[in-house]
Amino acid sequence: MTILTISRVAARTSVLGPGVRAVIWVHGCPLRCAGCIAPEDLPFDGGDRRAIDELAAWLTGLPADVTGVTFSGGEPMAQAAELAELTALIRRERDWSVMSYTGFTLGHLRRHGTPGQHALLAALDVLVDGPYLAARHADLRWRASDNQRVHLLTDRHPAPARDTSAGIEVHAGTSDVMWIGVPPVPGFRDHFAQAMRDRGVLLDGAPEPTNAEETDDVG
Ligand code: SF4
Repeated sequence: MTILTISRVAARTSVLGPGVRAVIWVHGCPLRCAGCIAPEDLPFDGGDRRAIDELAAWLTGLPADVTGVTFSGGEPMAQAAELAELTALIRRERDWSVMSYTGFTLGHLRRHGTPGQHALLAALDVLVDGPYLAARHADLRWRASDNQRVHLLTDRHPAPARDTSAGIEVHAGTSDVMWIGVPPVPGFRDHFAQAMRDRGVLLDGAPEPTNAEETDDVG
């Protein structure tokens, strides 16, 4: 049984890739970009260990208007073989678009990648690559700093018509609130967490109030 260690999932979003997609945030990242938006997801211990056939069943059972999945994190390439296997399971049932983030560059992965990383690259339609550089934070489509690139690895999707942020979605459940997206400005996470605290809502995993200048990225 193949296990993927994840932080969380979302059943639908329109701001992390083309169309309407599910998202899986994997747990663990070997990189330490200053200003990473999810420092609680970086250690390789902890996380939620899930069987990939269980995740595949959940994904392929989503409504028909969900036509893809995005792997974010954490570092998807740290669990690339598992994600390649998950992608194959999904595509047995549905012809889905698959996109991934990585803090590595595509060139590095092609030259030095493991067999699992090469397998995942071969399965992806879209890759957003490169580490988050806080000093280069910018208002960009699906990425947070201007060194990061959107690679269309297949002809499934045209290039985005606009290269500005796709926006932020706020998802409110019965007992929790989460936001999804790549903020166009630095510091969004702290500002949003404070705004929620002011309204009596504590976000899961939100940091304590801080004077840190930049804390945003999706990588
Ligand atoms: S921004 Fe992405 S690549 Fe960088 S430390 Fe955070 S999760 Fe890892």
